[in-house]
Amino acid sequence: SLKGKVALVTGSTSGIGLGIAHCLAAEGADLVLNGFGDAAAIEALRKETAEKYGVRVEYSGADISKPAEVAAMVKFAQDTLGSLDILVNNAGIQYVAPVEEFPDEKWDAIIAINLSSNFHAIKAALPAMKAKNWGRIINIASAHGLVASAQKSAYVTAKHGVVGLTKVVALENAQTGITCNAICPGWVLTPLVQKQIDARAANEGKTIEQAKRDLLGEKQPSLEFVTPEQLGGLAVFLCSDAAAQIRGVAYNVDGGWVAQ
Ligand code: NAD
Repeated sequence: SLKGKVALVTGSTSGIGLGIAHCLAAEGADLVLNGFGDAAAIEALRKETAEKYGVRVEYSGADISKPAEVAAMVKFAQDTLGSLDILVNNAGIQYVAPVEEFPDEKWDAIIAINLSSNFHAIKAALPAMKAKNWGRIINIASAHGLVASAQKSAYVTAKHGVVGLTKVVALENAQTGITCNAICPGWVLTPLVQKQIDARAANEGKTIEQAKRDLLGEKQPSLEFVTPEQLGGLAVFLCSDAAAQIRGVAYNVDGGWVAQ
């Protein structure tokens, strides 16, 4: 059980982050949600999650592309819920274009949100984890943290960086009760991927269903999407005592993507 632990999941107003947050709360962890969205919808989500799982749930609207806001979010978790024991760096964005056409500002935004935010959050969270000699840091990288695809230079660069950062943080804390690991999902049907499916359908004059099948067929041998709940299950395991000596590992949960 994760009762008495406090978890912060960045980008947990949607998709994978929300699935992981639910799984941690189901184990009894108190939560800080983060991410963008309609204020009333987020407040409803915060209340529902607290009531459903009987845990304390707070929300931080920090924009994680800004280092000062990341540090303030970590402090907010510690101040409002008493500690920060589990940090899940999940928020991320995508942009697809060949290198010569890739807008500079998209490159900078993806590096800031998908990679540098992990560094800033880990840096802010470590001192208190060290004081307790317990912590779990889980970075949501991607199959694109292990292998590449065309048109995704910033994303692939950032996600490979996340896997590297994960190993360094694991090593620096190897003789403590703090572990750091990465989860590398294949395709998960979230708004981030739905945009790519819609673009594909529009560009190729196909139905959404056909575009979905093509997207999976290209990369994911199972031809099935990974679910946020499956990723949440692994995150819960990585928080358990059984996982105390798992350090600096990047787990692909990808329907066979990286096995090819
Ligand atoms: P999503 O678009 O459904 O959710 C992204 C979340 O991040 C949202 O809550 C959004 O509000 C938040 N966010 C975006 N920019 C932010 C910012 N600047 N500050 C704070 N929050 C911000 O996406 P998702 O598919 O659930 O992706 C979550 C993570 O999983 C990302 O890191 C993504 O790269 C990774 N991932 C996704 C897939 C997939 O197939 N969906 C596969 C591999 C990895």
